[in-house]
Amino acid sequence: MKETIVNTNHSHGPASFQGEDRDYFNTVMAHVIEKNPGEPEFHQAVAEVLGSVIPYVNQNARYKQAKILERLIEPDRIVIFRVTWEDDTGCVQVNRGYRVQFSNAIGPYKGGLRFHPSVSLGTFKFLGFEQNFKNSLTTLPIGAGKGGADFDPKGKSDHEIMRFCQSFMTELARHIGKDVDVPAGDIGVGAREVSYLFGQYKRLNNRFTGVLTGKGIEFGGSLIRTEATGYGCVYFIQNMLQHVNQSIEGKIVVISGSGNVAQYAAEKAIQLGAVVVTLSDSSGFIYEPDGLTQEKLDFVKALKLKGGRIKAYVDQFPSAQYYDGQRPWSIKCAIALPCATQNELNETEAKQLVENGCIAVGEGANMPVTPGATSVFLDAKIAFGPGKAANAGGVAISALEMTQNSMRLHWTRDEVETRLKSIMMSIHEQCVAFGSTPNTTYVNYVDGANIAGFRKVADAMIAFGIL
Ligand code: NDP
Repeated sequence: MKETIVNTNHSHGPASFQGEDRDYFNTVMAHVIEKNPGEPEFHQAVAEVLGSVIPYVNQNARYKQAKILERLIEPDRIVIFRVTWEDDTGCVQVNRGYRVQFSNAIGPYKGGLRFHPSVSLGTFKFLGFEQNFKNSLTTLPIGAGKGGADFDPKGKSDHEIMRFCQSFMTELARHIGKDVDVPAGDIGVGAREVSYLFGQYKRLNNRFTGVLTGKGIEFGGSLIRTEATGYGCVYFIQNMLQHVNQSIEGKIVVISGSGNVAQYAAEKAIQLGAVVVTLSDSSGFIYEPDGLTQEKLDFVKALKLKGGRIKAYVDQFPSAQYYDGQRPWSIKCAIALPCATQNELNETEAKQLVENGCIAVGEGANMPVTPGATSVFLDAKIAFGPGKAANAGGVAISALEMTQNSMRLHWTRDEVETRLKSIMMSIHEQCVAFGSTPNTTYVNYVDGANIAGFRKVADAMIAFGIL
């Protein structure tokens, strides 16, 4: 079983708490661990938020009195269901589906669906918990949810994916709706899966509504939604660098992953004049010393669309090297963008990045940086953008897809991208407002994102009374 990773030896966050803050942190964490056994990623996500908001809550008695933290760690509801489907050989297959509806305090439940064999309830609780603060930061009216299944899309035929999606939606459909819960994609759920899911929802309900986001452009999708998480992450890096009078142009960027988020983070970084030297998948990474071009990136997009492995890149482009079974963090860079999965960058790797001159890190993925690694970045006072802030562009444009669906109109590419830029800037401003240190330019973006995200949800909860 995986272990809970909690910070123990650093000068900020829970390790620095004294007195009332320390007691409150220990009480809430003990409760979370006891009530949610075997869910280390959920414990980790909660500990990270408490590490920022406990002193703030202790200074604001109304939050403590209303037991806002104790309520925030308990999802509104969890649905777990069987997904039965038939594979191409006629064998019956059984998977487990989940939807964690975490909070609809500030809008309908909203968050992606993940199809990956490693997932369990704890995965979706961690993701749904994070989503609450992230969605609050976007400034848009969206609550928090997350779901998916332990289904492995790798190696499945198109027809198998379709049958799985249809069976999954047959159950999920009764729990979602355009004003209730609006899922989207995540790992293993891209445009193809969202289309199958949407088609099945439409068939079951005889309604064409914006019940999912990330839809095809022809049937209600928003321009820029596919690009939004990766682009938004790079805009956030740009904002963090501008805050310390630096620019992204000419900087070496190391990216992990080669899926949706990684591809579009790379694309925007290249467009802004940065030099992207790595991409990866769960088997290894490629290093392209002179930087990827748009043409080389287009090769990766096509490769991934047909289920290829990143290793194939070096057969096509001999200028690059492939490192089997390794992660890219040993490569010297100014900017690191972990865009693959949770806990993919550890303390040792963070130290190496800092020693190699890294000045900014943006979490394109959800919780890719371990607590120990986060502490290394915070101690070194480099610009560290946590996922809640740095990867919020995707859900923000999902919310704008909902808006366009409700209005039954379609904004242009430029219009949506302008809104994305302005949302990322506003998230940055909120982080600065709550994470700045007096008399310096240094911003603790972890504290800033957590406290700013918390405030809006907490105030709404108080307004509703005791629910
Ligand atoms: P994709 O499925 O498109 O790509 C995932 C990438 O991560 C692939 O390269 C995959 O490699 C790699 N990966 C997955 N699991 C592991 C693992 N255990 N170890 C190493 N590499 C792994 O997913 P997305 O790009 O959509 O999502 C990536 C991250 O971004 C996730 O954390 C997701 O929650 C987060 N995110 C996504 C958003 C979106 O809009 N899509 C929005 C906000 C956050 P392989 O093919 O070998 O599995």
